[in-house]
Amino acid sequence: MKVAVIYHEDFGTDGHSVLKLRIKPSFDALMKSGLVDGKDVQVLRPKPVLLGLVEDVHTKEHIENIRHEPYNMIYYNVALLSAGSVVMAAEMVAEGEADNAFAYTGTAGHHASPGSCWGFCYFNDVAMAIVRLREMGLERFLIVDVDPHFGDGTRNIFGDDPDVFHINFNHQSRSNYDTTNNNYDVGIGFNAENDQFLNELVSVMELAKDFDFQLCFVIFGHDSHRDDYGGFDLTLSAYPKMTNIIKDAVGDRGIVFVLSGGSNGKVASVAIPGVIAVLAGGWPV
Ligand SMILES: [Zn+2]
Repeated sequence: MKVAVIYHEDFGTDGHSVLKLRIKPSFDALMKSGLVDGKDVQVLRPKPVLLGLVEDVHTKEHIENIRHEPYNMIYYNVALLSAGSVVMAAEMVAEGEADNAFAYTGTAGHHASPGSCWGFCYFNDVAMAIVRLREMGLERFLIVDVDPHFGDGTRNIFGDDPDVFHINFNHQSRSNYDTTNNNYDVGIGFNAENDQFLNELVSVMELAKDFDFQLCFVIFGHDSHRDDYGGFDLTLSAYPKMTNIIKDAVGDRGIVFVLSGGSNGKVASVAIPGVIAVLAGGWPV
């Protein structure tokens, strides 16, 4: 299989109120696109992540906080299911069952630190996936966070980890490359348009491709679109180009796209099938 798409309808019903309205329209658009008619792209259903993985990443106090008010149980359950989606996607790529994967989510993860969270994030899904992949014997990872908000939770977890290269696009105006810890903050400003974003992406991927990683996570927030709520001023044509640039640099090491910020159903309905089409090697003819 070229692309495993991990999807659960609860993401669209029980997901965070800001994030959930894009889920069903974008999935319906994917199903109508022709991409999933053959064997190359297949849709699979996730299960909630194992609690042991949550406890490997987060403090007991944090887990208890998410289980109860003020966050309430409904986000606890969908956050576990979202992390289960990302872990399943990562396992499938690591085991060679899929070349690449796209994990739908109902809550996001990159603002979740071991003991705190904010911004529609509860548990750090990518961190749990990396714990799981390390149990399977993989060691080194590239994380490309193209969501326009700074992924502070992911940085708090992996900032000192020499075996994780963390590229973190954000809407600050300055970039910073910490070579000791393989952390690259790419600040391109609130109003960054396609060319600036894509040119910066080419540069950082050129640098990152020589880091000896085994699997790449892309934290994909389409809140970077000019009609969505986050920073950046991108248009729809940026997303397939972005995916191509990342795919070229990663080669056959495997990519797991993780759905992050974004609420606009019209944007998601074009952007998500476009990303999956590039991962699959093109639209069916
Ligand atoms: Zn965001």
